[in-house]
Amino acid sequence: MKKTYLMTPGPTPVPPKALLAMAEPIIHHRTPEFMEIFKEVCADLKYIFQTQSDVIVFTSSGTGAMEAAVANLLSPGDKAICVQGGKFGERWTELCNAYGVNAIVIDVEWGKAVDPKIIEQELKKDSGIQAVFTTLCETSTGVLTDIKAIANITKNHNAALVVDAISGLGAEEIKTDEWGIDCVVSGSQKGLMIPPGLAFVSLSKKAWDKVEKSKCPKYYFSFKKSKKALDSADTPFTPAISLVIALRETLRMMKTEGLDVILARHKKLALSTREAMKAMGLQLFAPTAPSNGVTAVNVPAGVDGEKLVKHMRDKYGVGIAGGQAELKGKVFRIAHMGYITETDIVTTIAVLGMALAEMGYKGPVEPA
Ligand SMILES: *Cc1c(COP(=O)(O)O)cnc(C)c1O
Repeated sequence: MKKTYLMTPGPTPVPPKALLAMAEPIIHHRTPEFMEIFKEVCADLKYIFQTQSDVIVFTSSGTGAMEAAVANLLSPGDKAICVQGGKFGERWTELCNAYGVNAIVIDVEWGKAVDPKIIEQELKKDSGIQAVFTTLCETSTGVLTDIKAIANITKNHNAALVVDAISGLGAEEIKTDEWGIDCVVSGSQKGLMIPPGLAFVSLSKKAWDKVEKSKCPKYYFSFKKSKKALDSADTPFTPAISLVIALRETLRMMKTEGLDVILARHKKLALSTREAMKAMGLQLFAPTAPSNGVTAVNVPAGVDGEKLVKHMRDKYGVGIAGGQAELKGKVFRIAHMGYITETDIVTTIAVLGMALAEMGYKGPVEPA
């Protein structure tokens, strides 16, 4: 017999209530019954996004919403800043390249957060820059970006601030309206606690003005089409009905717990995880700007990082994540995001300790 623990930064575990909701017979989406559900979901998304603006829902993984942000806010030949300090920051640059947008890349050392002043310098150099693409929680490195400070800068410039909060939403503080963020994109399979398949976008007035001018090609991922349908609690195409129904359950849970309590819980789990890693003699990959959703840890010398992840999954049923791209085999990542409790974290840490010992790790070295 085996019991599994999903401790990865997406997908994350789905609460039983949401799973059961998806087991109900499918309903049609052009019915008053679904419309009621969709209305409730859209209203609750505003609470989680901390915005008064509409939140558009797409049936796609999170990257669909990222692509939509590039395609709907910009035109070929436009200039945009892409902050890249990990795999997901790089995705912004790749998307800009795909749509003929000139990416001004701010390369950040992996494991560090961008210095907002560098963004300000770039914006001051060129008032023609149309957007600044950033990542709230860089899931590949476990770094948290100071979005509040960046928003403080972009609000004095022509550029719209776009934030990938796919893994950040529901785990990190992000005050869309109060901080003045123009576009927040997210996905369903991380802090929102349902399976992959839904993506979300919020847009400010400044962002909508850019949408009006945008000339990049788009069809399915059109903000205008989605907004028009949303005005009558509808979607332009068939939505992932079962996922929307599941989302109603997790959003209800989140409203009941309260955003502040949720964020405090994530903070506590993240802090506990980091302290446990240090106590085990391990080094954090991003000690200066750690996120509350995922902790990246350096694989200790002498241990095979990929085998460690596999060993924990195969022998103990605990699924953590390995490193991506240049961090493959060099770090492992423990998520404490979404439907995760203290017990899950304690279990994961204990299993990590056993697995490391079995792989020859000797533990912390006593200082001389
Ligand atoms: C998971 C994730 C994505 C990608 O989302 P998909 O749902 O796989 O398309 C993008 N950005 C960040 C920061 C993520 O954590």
